[in-house]
Amino acid sequence: MYSGLVNVSYVVASILFILSLGGLGHQETARRGNLYGIAGIIIAVVATLYHTTENNLLATLVALTLGAIIGLTVAQQVVMTQMPQLVAILHSFVGLAAVLVGFAGYLDPLVSTTGAEHTIKMVEVYVGIFVGAVTFTGSIIACGKLRGSIASRPMMLPGRHWLNLAILVATFIMAGYFLTHENTAFNLVLLLIMTSLALLLGIHLIMAIGGADMPVVVSMLNSYSGWAAASIGFLLRNDLLIITGALVGSSGAILSYIMCKAMNRSFISVILGGFGQSSSSRKNTTNEPIHETSADEVSEELLHAQSVIVAPGYGMAVAQAQHAVSDITRLLRDKGVNVRFAIHPVAGRLPGHMNVLLAEAKVPYDIVLEMDEVNEDFSATDVVLVIGANDTVNPSASEDPDSPISGMPVLEVWKAHRVVVMKRSMSAGYSGVENPLFFKPNTRMLFGDARQLTEQLLVKLKS
Ligand code: NDP
Repeated sequence: MYSGLVNVSYVVASILFILSLGGLGHQETARRGNLYGIAGIIIAVVATLYHTTENNLLATLVALTLGAIIGLTVAQQVVMTQMPQLVAILHSFVGLAAVLVGFAGYLDPLVSTTGAEHTIKMVEVYVGIFVGAVTFTGSIIACGKLRGSIASRPMMLPGRHWLNLAILVATFIMAGYFLTHENTAFNLVLLLIMTSLALLLGIHLIMAIGGADMPVVVSMLNSYSGWAAASIGFLLRNDLLIITGALVGSSGAILSYIMCKAMNRSFISVILGGFGQSSSSRKNTTNEPIHETSADEVSEELLHAQSVIVAPGYGMAVAQAQHAVSDITRLLRDKGVNVRFAIHPVAGRLPGHMNVLLAEAKVPYDIVLEMDEVNEDFSATDVVLVIGANDTVNPSASEDPDSPISGMPVLEVWKAHRVVVMKRSMSAGYSGVENPLFFKPNTRMLFGDARQLTEQLLVKLKS
């Protein structure tokens, strides 16, 4: 009866996880989606504790308490802009768990198996350890690149594709031996060699990928960590872990696909790495003059505008300017100006980063538009405020076929009558690619910290 109850709980938790993913797809339902997820995980943890034998219960409770303390401490210290690196490091834990459970399942199986069942189990062990090891080191490198402790430039070893191919071929050959021979000491050695090669592959694959592709990498590793969790589920005969792992694995894969589309990259070209290595073709932009403006001038332009679009980026998040931006929006809307927001799919440092900040600052959802919904409207817009965005508004993506970001869909802000760019200097964005937007005749540069600038603007607008 107990196991029946646990199974029912697992089904309920799985349904809640699916509802949670559905809810997180829209801003209006995201809060509800989160609540479904929290309810699902509570049911899953309680059911698992219920299922745990007395011996393991103490160890499980100690591990849960320690994990909860570490998780709470870290979550309180991490600011929104550091979220991608936190997500990356959490994926590495899932990868490591898959490796450890794989070895435990091999050395001390929960149930003894024979024949075809045994072969299937050995495939689970082998694949689980391989995917887990690649996820583990790959996620650590992705975290380092996002933190800036590892250079975001792609590391291009000579013959790197051959190196990856050699590792994959060796992994397959060892798998052939491992699956056709009975438990021998040599099998364990093979497993250890395969693990070392997979750890190396994780490092090498992600080191070769440039900073601009990191969003796709993080979501790809998210997918890997899901499949690693599903493989642990098969080993532990835990249906909930299989379902949850598959949900994470497939949603991560879908997100990676959507992001690749948003950056006009193919999934294969991201995995093969190397993007962002060549320097951008600058077209002598540095010789062209730039036009500076002031808060006074911008506030005048805003007050005389009929339509304004705000294009926020990473700089708005760093400066925490969203509250002042929200106040400016309210003030202008009260004066009858049509103010909207244009959100690029990879603006900031994680998908949905800008949406979260704007929702926190109480900007109405219905004026926050996706890139595809708003890109046509820039040509009929009086003023565009680019607040701490750079790569996501770079015209070379569509105007310069030699640019490393050529073909990436961007917010076409330069088509507006006036573009005001708020940033601290002329430095490039995350991808390191020069931005000709700053030199366009209709662009005005407003230099300074985004928060200070928006607060100054607010004061001017009020007066
Ligand atoms: P960018 O990273 O391209 O540019 C941000 C700009 O903000 C910089 O040029 C910087 O210029 C400016 N800035 C920084 N601090 C401040 C401040 N305090 N006040 C004002 N300006 C500031 O931002 P985007 O959002 O346009 O593009 C996101 C980039 O990040 C893309 O390349 C994307 O691929 C990448 N990325 C995205 C992820 C995602 O999932 N969204 C994850 C990882 C990477 P200055 O120093 O002159 O002030």
